Amino acid sequence: MNDFKLDPPVCPAHGKPTKREACPACNAAYMRGYLRKIRQTRPHKTILERARKRARRQGLPYSLRRQDISLPARCPVLGISLRTGQSRSPASPSLDRIDPVQGYIPGNVRVISDHANKLKGNRCLADIRSLSLKGPPARRAKYQAVAAYVEREALLVEVRQKAARDPRPNSPWQVIADFLERRFRSFAG
Ligand SMILES: [Zn+2]
Repeated sequence: MNDFKLDPPVCPAHGKPTKREACPACNAAYMRGYLRKIRQTRPHKTILERARKRARRQGLPYSLRRQDISLPARCPVLGISLRTGQSRSPASPSLDRIDPVQGYIPGNVRVISDHANKLKGNRCLADIRSLSLKGPPARRAKYQAVAAYVEREALLVEVRQKAARDPRPNSPWQVIADFLERRFRSFAG
């Protein structure tokens, strides 16, 4: 479960990876240890790095900074505990693009579990709804949770658009948007 306490990665030939310049296995062991440490100590950085690479690969906009993402203890979609500091798993935090086309921009991303993100994929709400009714029985409840997530995030997008049209600093729509934003960051049960 928890590899925080595992020994640091070793090179089969040299043990402690001290010969990085000459030995590829040392270098690989060093990098594994380094990335594990980053995942443990700076989970936001890991999440943003992955997103930045994916954005580049897919030619999507990317303009996120550390303060644009919030890392909850539990997946806002499925309620499972998010596990940081470990290699990739269904419980790893993963950055969802609420509107996939818009890319990784502030206000269009939510940290959810890798599992929830894969269930959502590039599916539209109608497809997710249909899977929640006619998909594999063991997964219907999960698809239902994904559909509820997609619906509430769409609602927040609408509220934000209304807020943007009202220039007053604490307009009612802005207050609602802020409230929903805080509310949607973690699992409500
Ligand atoms: Zn070595």
